[in-house]
Formats: sequence, C-alpha cells, structure tokens
Amino acid sequence: MAGLLARTGFRVLGKRPSLLVCSVRGEKYMADPLEHATGIERQELEAIKKGNPDPFMMRVMKRGLGTKDQPTTVPSFHESRIVGCICHEEAFYVNWMWLYKGEPKRCECGYWFKLTEAQDPFK
Ligand SMILES: [Zn+2]
Repeated sequence: MAGLLARTGFRVLGKRPSLLVCSVRGEKYMADPLEHATGIERQELEAIKKGNPDPFMMRVMKRGLGTKDQPTTVPSFHESRIVGCICHEEAFYVNWMWLYKGEPKRCECGYWFKLTEAQDPFK
C-alpha cells in the first residue's frame, strides 16, 4: 500500500490496522471509509452515497393513524421484526413487541402496527 501511494504522489504519515492517514502536498486527510469497507458494510455505504440515508430502515419512524383499519406499517426483510413503541410523549420506557407478517398487532397504548415487505435497498 505504501509503495503504491508513493508512486501516486501520496505519502503515508501514520498507519493503524483500520486507519490510514495520508498526505498530498502537505494536506492531511483520512482515507475514505468506502475504500476499506467490504460486504454488507460496503453495500450500506454505497446506498448512503447514492442518497438513501437509511438502507436498513433502522431509524425511528413516526406512528401513523394507528387504527385497526390503517395500522402503522413497519417494513421488514424477514417474517418477523421486533418493534419498540414509545406509547406516550413523556414515557420513560419503550414498549417492545414482536410483529409477524400477516398478523397486525395492537400495542398496549392502543396503536396498531403491521409488518410489510421491505424493498431491496440495493437495487
Ligand atoms: Zn404503544
């Protein structure tokens, strides 16, 4: 790596197993994490770079109406997913429950949730 960088005009200033600090004409910068990522981490970073900031749908969602007829939909790649409901604005806890595809479920606070098929974020 150092030889390759030297041939291209880069100079390695310091090296740790997961960190490579380089210099171009005296400017120090961190190596792009995308260059080192592999597998699912690389897919996630590429999806973020393409404009999808949450490819695995891990961010907090706002509840919808939450009625039995119009439940809050939760996307999942699997047959089940654990979901946490913050039942009240001032709640000090999260009410965790399992959701299964095809079985809408009602939280203790009265809101309904339903698992739906997630879209492949890497297509
Ligand atoms: Zn709840």
